[in-house]
Amino acid sequence: MSSSPTHRVHNFGAGPAVLPEPVLEEAQRDLMALPGVGMSVLEISHRSAAFERILGQAEADLRALTGLPDDYHVLFLQGGASLQFAMVPMNLLPPGGVADYALTGSWAKKAAAEAERFGRVNVCATTEDDGFARVPAPAELRRTAGAAYLHVTSNNTIAGTQWPALPAAEGAPLVVDASSDLLSRPLPLEGLGLLYGGAQKNLGPAGVTVVVVRKDLAERGPDTLPSTLRYAVAARHGSRYNTPPVFAIYLAGLVLRWLRDEGGLTAVDARNRRKAGLLYDAIDRSGFYRGAADPASRSLMNVTFRLRDEALEPRFLEQAAAAGLAGLKGHRLVGGIRASIYNAFPEAGVAALVDLMAEFERVHG
Ligand SMILES: *Cc1c(COP(=O)(O)O)cnc(C)c1O
Repeated sequence: MSSSPTHRVHNFGAGPAVLPEPVLEEAQRDLMALPGVGMSVLEISHRSAAFERILGQAEADLRALTGLPDDYHVLFLQGGASLQFAMVPMNLLPPGGVADYALTGSWAKKAAAEAERFGRVNVCATTEDDGFARVPAPAELRRTAGAAYLHVTSNNTIAGTQWPALPAAEGAPLVVDASSDLLSRPLPLEGLGLLYGGAQKNLGPAGVTVVVVRKDLAERGPDTLPSTLRYAVAARHGSRYNTPPVFAIYLAGLVLRWLRDEGGLTAVDARNRRKAGLLYDAIDRSGFYRGAADPASRSLMNVTFRLRDEALEPRFLEQAAAAGLAGLKGHRLVGGIRASIYNAFPEAGVAALVDLMAEFERVHG
């Protein structure tokens, strides 16, 4: 099977990643002219009434999906999750303060390393000695009394682990990098200070970063910061201090509406559990495959596994690609196989991978 203009492969890529087909179709239909506007979203002013509606609707849908209270801002920013690694401490870590970081993977380490440029970081837990194959139990966290915040990475895209539940806030606001499980399950609001994610895994194309931040925390950034790096400035200007990534916001808006049409986050969570369950069952069925993450920490978004005989992995990937299953190669840091099965990834694609795994084992097992 090969790709053609009318045939889409199953895209297991970790990001930028698969988008819902109805969303792509709508964006394609409306690319020449938005209904009632006569211009495409690529061509209209970010201050126009048409874009105002698009931005307002995206925020309203995100609030409705998550039940987000009024004391949080929803911001649409640029610079990716990686800029948030810096913006979070720049805005939330006061002089002399300490921020707690749980190191559960490469992205968490990058976030902590960036924060160290701006203030004191306490590594309150790390699972690096276990190859990041698990997330810490809440009791393992050695937290600082009076910490400015606790930073966690809710889903570790590379190792394929996910916090089954986020740690309790215990006074310090929780700051969550949710780049790879954004809106894949109901959002726990208990203790939440700030949550951020690049859109390109679960929510849209690259170019926009969603930040949900408690209003009082957004005001903490000193006014000596550059305007473009202060949450308070973005909030005051409704995410339009300067020209925002209009197309990425428009497309994320279509995905948010699609999530509502799919039944909301509880329904999407149930489907994600079903999809991941099928794959983990296939991995555990015999000793031919082996899950890379500890069972209690397994990610519902990035399913990582090895073949018992790792030398067979290139052949496995080759046959998968030939069967129209793309993007299964594990991250270059860890190797192996990684099936990223974000919200928009169809159940039929999971079934196709499960079939391929059984057939490959029948031939090579
Ligand atoms: C992909 C990813 C990032 C980096 O996102 P950018 O938007 O490329 O900066 C950060 N954190 C996690 C958990 C990710 O999966």
